Amino acid sequence: MNAAHPAPPPEDSIVEVVPVVRRVVAARVVDPAVRDDVVQETLARLMASRSRVEQDTLVPYAIAIARNLIASLAEREQRSRRSAHLLTDTDQPEPRPDDEVLRHEEAAIVGAAMARLPAAEREILLAHEVEGTDTATLAASRGSTPGAIAAQLNRTRSRLRVEYLVAQSATDPPTDRCRAILMALSLGDRRRQRELDVHGHLLACDFCAAHSPALTARRARRTEQEDVRVPVGRDSDVVAARQKGREVAAGVGFTGTELTVIATAISEIARNIVKFAKRGEFTYTVLTDGDRTGLQVVARDSGPGIPDVQRALEDGYSTYRGLGLGLPGARRLMDEFDIVSTVGEGTTVTMIKWRA
Ligand SMILES: [Zn+2]
Repeated sequence: MNAAHPAPPPEDSIVEVVPVVRRVVAARVVDPAVRDDVVQETLARLMASRSRVEQDTLVPYAIAIARNLIASLAEREQRSRRSAHLLTDTDQPEPRPDDEVLRHEEAAIVGAAMARLPAAEREILLAHEVEGTDTATLAASRGSTPGAIAAQLNRTRSRLRVEYLVAQSATDPPTDRCRAILMALSLGDRRRQRELDVHGHLLACDFCAAHSPALTARRARRTEQEDVRVPVGRDSDVVAARQKGREVAAGVGFTGTELTVIATAISEIARNIVKFAKRGEFTYTVLTDGDRTGLQVVARDSGPGIPDVQRALEDGYSTYRGLGLGLPGARRLMDEFDIVSTVGEGTTVTMIKWRA
């Protein structure tokens, strides 16, 4: 990776590690059940140690964890095979696909995407997402306002999503308009989409048609399905909330790993409610957008509220241990995350996970 642009896409960094880990594990572990176990265990360990891992080393670190897990699995297997070997004589070394190739591939994609960002935008994004500088501080040092900085960050993240997809496809967009089209989709800017005749373009352009689902999936619409509600007040309710969320998600076809991710995020928020607010409620809503399906999790409580939401989203702020996640962890695990809190009234966390 180019040392000048060392960070992976900041918002979803943990979740974006999952496909890489799955590929590494799939290349080496044949049994699908064992594969899922190894991927989930890798994710859990990665999250537990995340505060100590630099943003730009997340992928290699995850691969190292997965390799260690696979190695200890293989060692156990080999021990039992050695005893079997005495009888059958079929001890052959397994082929070992090269992890380095996967690692460099992912790093190159992220590096290329970051390099396409204008320097000023990249700088603000890294300051905010990696160093944790809040929008007010960024605004003060740039003679701007927090609102303007937040809007700029939103545009930069949208651009990064576009550049990530373009870099991943390893081909240049076929027309001069493609990036602007994809950017309008990524931003969810309907006025701009009309101006650019996005629909007309998508009919004519295979490149943009292929990439638009990944960008528009972030914009949700509710379905007619009934919401599922779970009250949360005691420790045992944390498990109930997690199980219910898992059940609703499984019902609309989320995979095992996705279910783990969703259940983990729900647990984190539910524990926060039990610990800090005493009483709250989870609402699960199935979302559809085109042929995409997602799960929306809304957690409301009538607790003391969070005085500084920005800080509560920083790593290491939460005093609650658990898996060491808290709010920042939940935010990383889900595709969309929003938190509104009023001191003395309570907090509402809204999270969405889209089916891959
Ligand atoms: Zn196009």
